[in-house]
Amino acid sequence: MKIVLLGAPGSGKGTQGAELASHYGVPKIASGDLLREAVASGSELGQKAKAAMDAGELVSDDTVIGMIRERLNEPDAQNGFILDGFPRSLAQAEALDQLLDELSRPLQRVIHMQVDNEEIVGRLAARGRADDTEEAIRNRLAVFAEQTEPLVTYYEQRGLLTPVNATGDIDAIQTRLIEAIEAA
Ligand code: AMP
Repeated sequence: MKIVLLGAPGSGKGTQGAELASHYGVPKIASGDLLREAVASGSELGQKAKAAMDAGELVSDDTVIGMIRERLNEPDAQNGFILDGFPRSLAQAEALDQLLDELSRPLQRVIHMQVDNEEIVGRLAARGRADDTEEAIRNRLAVFAEQTEPLVTYYEQRGLLTPVNATGDIDAIQTRLIEAIEAA
């Protein structure tokens, strides 16, 4: 079970990823959660990441790749994982391929969670996280379109991508996700 959830901010990766992780008994590994923990702990990594996060920009590839590499090496990730929010750039996708290659654990499937923009803005506004100011949200959506959306083609070309309609009822979306994973 090695799954990547790809989708715009507010597409429900966190909520659905947690459900999938408990359904399949593997950890959900969310780069955003790891970064927020680093910020809260005041570590050097957290201090480096904070400004980019507050502005809705991407934290540097090197920082995030190093952090994910460590996390994927932990014992609980050996039987699989649900990745949420990583990779977010081509450099990160290439680094992930290389890392999984080294570990002889290829990706099973990349799920593209599709939600329309109006629903996204509504969901983020309701969430109220520190980086959910209007300006940071707008920036995160622009960054997603520029830097993360090219990953759709990247994974499509590798035959790994499955689009899933992620609009509507939470349980219905979860059912569609499980169907997409099991059909692959
Ligand atoms: P998220 O919780 O996924 O919405 O991420 C919150 C913020 O953390 C993002 O707006 C970025 O600033 C940063 N972040 C999370 N994941 C990544 C990543 N894979 N690459 C770069 N920055 C990231």
